[in-house]
Amino acid sequence: MTHTIVLIPGDGIGPEVTAAVRRVLEAAGADLHWEEHHAGLAAMADGDEVLPQSTLEAVERHKVALKGPCTTPVGKGFQSVNVQLRKRLNLYAAVRPVRSLPGIKTRYEDVDLVIVRENTEGLYSGVENEVSPGVVMSMKVASTVACMRIARWAFRYATQRKRSRITVFHKANIMKISDGLFIECAKGVHDLEYPNIKYNEVIIDAGCMRLVQDPSQFDILLLENLYGDVVSDLVAGMVGGLGVVPGANIGEDMAVFEAVHGSAPDIAGKGVANPLALLMSSVMMLNYLGDTRQDKGLRTIAESIQSAYDQALRDGQKTRDLGGTLNTMQFADAVIDRLT
Ligand code: NAD
Repeated sequence: MTHTIVLIPGDGIGPEVTAAVRRVLEAAGADLHWEEHHAGLAAMADGDEVLPQSTLEAVERHKVALKGPCTTPVGKGFQSVNVQLRKRLNLYAAVRPVRSLPGIKTRYEDVDLVIVRENTEGLYSGVENEVSPGVVMSMKVASTVACMRIARWAFRYATQRKRSRITVFHKANIMKISDGLFIECAKGVHDLEYPNIKYNEVIIDAGCMRLVQDPSQFDILLLENLYGDVVSDLVAGMVGGLGVVPGANIGEDMAVFEAVHGSAPDIAGKGVANPLALLMSSVMMLNYLGDTRQDKGLRTIAESIQSAYDQALRDGQKTRDLGGTLNTMQFADAVIDRLT
């Protein structure tokens, strides 16, 4: 069974890491047809909008995309492509598994967390005004519909993955109404629908301290949009950095897989970026396809790629961000050499 995947190379290191991942997936025998579409600066360079309608329609048509990072200017310019894409396609759940990897020495061992981030609301509503000269306002949006669906998604995921605990990080002591609604919905879903899964709420500042003291006390972290963004990078730092944390943006019937990291302009064009985070995201994509399209073969390929990159790391085959010497394509080849 051939699956058509929309490939969005993105900006900065995006084209480098997507090319490396494509090479591994092809070598592993995944029967995929790639349909390439642009977004971000790459789309603007083609004289298109930053998020072309044709790219959105392609994802709507094929339901699955693999995406490289897109650059967003700071403080001015266009709205984030990533935020627009997630909102316009209603990809409301961001899921980011974070685990300690073999051969990568950090201050922590045995980190095994999953971040579930609400992807459509919060301070990412993009509603900002200048109220009067020198006074600006940014609106934090929370709705019962979005808070309930992300809570249900997290508990359903916990059940399917046999995870035992969901912890919500919040600031409802200060943002009593918006974060208050988020925890009220999560607790409601827990109490009425999933009482078998352990549930607790932690104020986010104390939660971050507890995370860095001992991440093993957490299992799934459920967060609103901005907290999910920040805490994802925090926990990435516990397992080796942004080069090793994958992600997926999931909606009712479609999904866009992308790493947590950005376009890394500081190393773009040098061919040294770590493709592992996007490769891990592509493994999530194969598993998603395997489940949603009943294609067991893709699950087997996903397992073999995962074993191959674990083995490569165990053998000391690493890119520079992890203390190694390999460049992007050399790491991809090291993985290919270990495919069984
Ligand atoms: P970044 O994630 O791009 O980079 C942070 C640091 O991590 C840099 O030092 C970078 O070199 C390093 N890094 C990131 N990915 C790496 C990899 N695969 N291998 C080796 N090192 C890696 O974050 P930033 O610099 O804050 O953002 C740059 C741009 O990316 C901004 O325009 C931002 O808006 C955008 N961004 C996009 C996405 C996305 O498309 N989903 C996510 C985050 C940031």
